[in-house]
Amino acid sequence: MSLFDQKTVCKYCVEEIKPCKDEGIQCLECNQTVHLRCLKRGSVPGGLHGDVFFTYKCAECSASGVEVFIRNKASWMQIIVLVLYHLREKRPGLARRGFFHWRHHVASFIDKNWDIIFPPDTKMKKKWRGTIAGTLSHFSPFIFVSGTSIFNEPAWWTLKYTSLSPYVITQLHAEMINEKGVLKSKKLKVPSDAELFHKVLGVYVEDEEYLQTFIVNTIQVDIKDDYDKVPAVRKPVRTKRKGCSSSLNNPRKLFKDGSASLDLPIKPLRTEPEEKVQSQINCPKKEVTENAEGIKLYDPFCHYNTSLNKLAYLRGTSLYTKITGGIRREPFLSPYSEIYLKPYIRRDTEVFPAWLKLMAEIQLTVNTKYDDDYELPPRAPIDYTYVQPEHIPAINSLCNQFFWPGIDLTDSLKYPDFSCVVLYKRLIVGFAFLVPDVSYTENYMSFCFTRPGWRNCGIGRFMVYHLIQTSLGKDITLHVSINNPALFLYQKFGFKVEKVVLDFYDKYLICDYNDKSKHAFFCRLER
Ligand SMILES: [Zn+2]
Ligand SMILES: [Zn+2]
Repeated sequence: MSLFDQKTVCKYCVEEIKPCKDEGIQCLECNQTVHLRCLKRGSVPGGLHGDVFFTYKCAECSASGVEVFIRNKASWMQIIVLVLYHLREKRPGLARRGFFHWRHHVASFIDKNWDIIFPPDTKMKKKWRGTIAGTLSHFSPFIFVSGTSIFNEPAWWTLKYTSLSPYVITQLHAEMINEKGVLKSKKLKVPSDAELFHKVLGVYVEDEEYLQTFIVNTIQVDIKDDYDKVPAVRKPVRTKRKGCSSSLNNPRKLFKDGSASLDLPIKPLRTEPEEKVQSQINCPKKEVTENAEGIKLYDPFCHYNTSLNKLAYLRGTSLYTKITGGIRREPFLSPYSEIYLKPYIRRDTEVFPAWLKLMAEIQLTVNTKYDDDYELPPRAPIDYTYVQPEHIPAINSLCNQFFWPGIDLTDSLKYPDFSCVVLYKRLIVGFAFLVPDVSYTENYMSFCFTRPGWRNCGIGRFMVYHLIQTSLGKDITLHVSINNPALFLYQKFGFKVEKVVLDFYDKYLICDYNDKSKHAFFCRLER
């Protein structure tokens, strides 16, 4: 007997219903089944992929003529299977080689969709997140597979049988429990859950196609793997830039004195999985000093290019985005909050940073020589936006130049709500990032940077202001070098120094061009 033997057809379209492929939901009254895709309302409430855990009445059987859905109470196993199945299908980009993080992906998804997943008035128990972790281990390795052996940390999970739908897995599990009861009543030896599940699977699912088990995704680009494929550059950028003979080519010199930088490098967060930190800070001191060949760079094409001119290298951006300099005009969906973020945070037409003043002066001086009536062309506004994939190469490149090599801020795309990128036309002039949820009550400011020449005119202030606005109700913490004038800005916003961390930047500031102290203040803004 196989679960796939019974042939059912959809009540609405009269085509066959194929379990695991073209799932259907059964009407309580007429017992006929309807494809999820054929439902009159377009999808089940909440739209979760493969979600059939409702008590359903078709349009014909319901008194009002409208389909009725009542959420069934589901076990945690069912819920997690459902969420992983949905994420696999709809959010494959979040996965790390096919695995999802139980807290950042699974628990946060459940948290955000609580009202969809649970029957109304289901109370959130205090330790429900812990239940998720427990459930995953309990049903491992026959329903869930852990990525521990691959990532060296026990946080990554996925479904073992990738082709089985949540409904079929639930059926199999019910059969397994059934079988267990039978064995117990006969006082026979009960094998382990894993063995029993496998046995049930063999009986009910005959088709090999459905028995495919998860294979670690090697095609998908993993940031860390990618480092190895990039050819090493012989010398760090800085040395190369020093070769520029003209001082005009090197704007930093002009503005070195008195420029208040707002830069503070990231601290490897204890709550962050080690691998993740590694991918952000791929620059352990040891590796660099031992490796005389030079430092591996993430993106050799974009390394010297800190404007957005290399957009042609970026796939997945629309032509419109490319020709308008990477500034999007349409709202985009945040994978973190699942809300649409506006393409702009703010547009500033007033501010006149020192660098633009200098440029204007040069333009005036040159042009008034030949034309007394010369007028400067209108200035472009300064745009504050949320981080977008097309910003990342330029931001990484700036980090490589101004902080230390190997920084990769790709992860920030997972929570664009907590970012601010400042653009002048196609040039990135500043950026600031928060890492959300480093602890239950705390967000951490990982980077805040304004280009030299664009400082002291409120850009950094607005970025910090914006980030504070995004994390209402949560403390914000940060590290700042003890001789970095940005400290005054943070203090103006109410950040208080909590402690001094000696040699905090020791690991990072390996190149001695940075004039910042290696000691840091740890500051907190209490909410
Ligand atoms: Zn149908
Ligand atoms: Zn019906």
